[in-house]
Amino acid sequence: MRATVFLPDVQKVLEKRSEPAYRLEQAYSALTRSLIRDWEEATNLPKGLRAVLAEGAPAAVLELRGVSRATDGTRKYLFHTRDGHAIETVMIPEKGRHTVCISTQVGCPMGCKFCATGLLGIKRNLKAREIAEQVFVAARDIAPHRVSNVVVMGMGEPFLNYDETLEALKVLNDPDGFALAARHIAASTSGLVDRIRRFADEPEQFHLAISLHTPFEDERKELMPVAARHQIPELMDAARYYVEKTHRKLFFEYTLLAGVNDQPRHAEALAELLDHPLYHLNLLRFNWTDTGFSATSQRGAREFLRYARSLGLPATLRPSRGQDIDAACGQLAAKDLRGRTAVSLSS
Ligand code: SF4
Repeated sequence: MRATVFLPDVQKVLEKRSEPAYRLEQAYSALTRSLIRDWEEATNLPKGLRAVLAEGAPAAVLELRGVSRATDGTRKYLFHTRDGHAIETVMIPEKGRHTVCISTQVGCPMGCKFCATGLLGIKRNLKAREIAEQVFVAARDIAPHRVSNVVVMGMGEPFLNYDETLEALKVLNDPDGFALAARHIAASTSGLVDRIRRFADEPEQFHLAISLHTPFEDERKELMPVAARHQIPELMDAARYYVEKTHRKLFFEYTLLAGVNDQPRHAEALAELLDHPLYHLNLLRFNWTDTGFSATSQRGAREFLRYARSLGLPATLRPSRGQDIDAACGQLAAKDLRGRTAVSLSS
């Protein structure tokens, strides 16, 4: 039963009071379907029990500290965990869809050179409830619109927090929980090959994206320390295992960095490397961070896309979103998190 794993603190309170087993399901439904933030809102539970739960197992595990709203409709949520860490979540509206980009760790140990989160180092893994609750808060915020997609591309390397991340995704997918179809949920990894294989073996039909960022080994080692551990041939073996096992499209994320990985030779090498019909290249424009890199121009990015496609590579250029609030998914800005005094929010 999902609720037992997801809500151990609630279960403990209920068991102590010898409540019937269905109360746990009711509590789970209140949190994951009705999206309550306070047990007082859980009208499916008796009033007396709501007060006891509020005392012993509060409904919200994250405190929403503020919402930044970009001119293009993108929203960035800043949360504090109960132990005082800051994490970020982004909601991106696009063509009637509402995609929520969630974090799985406080900071990240992977140290990708162009990533603001990577500069923070790692504080701790998030629990499944902390991961899923980011989506619940965004869903509440955008109602009556519904969350149409969830991407695990915020702070952290989700496959270093595999079990808690997967549990959160299962709750989001659970027909008795948040009930978002698995094909609308995607995780992104910097390239942990054993976990890519494990993810491929999971029964759920979640999508996967691999951060590639350059087709050249030496450059990848410069940009992403993980590349020293898992070289490109090993990564591509795992990628092939994934598509052959799942028959699902596999996305390769590629952040265009001016003068670093946006040359014609990169497109040519990518066209050779991404040689399976289920592979798809997702080009992203870099959101400014204080990492010393700069973004390929819009024109340069379109040119790179056009050239990659002309070489037979299925590719998409994702629009930059939320630039005025530092809301690039996968490159969340660290300034809110390094110094709380720097936080500027408009909730
Ligand atoms: S890009 Fe992703 S994996 Fe790399 S440091 Fe940033 S959050 Fe971590």
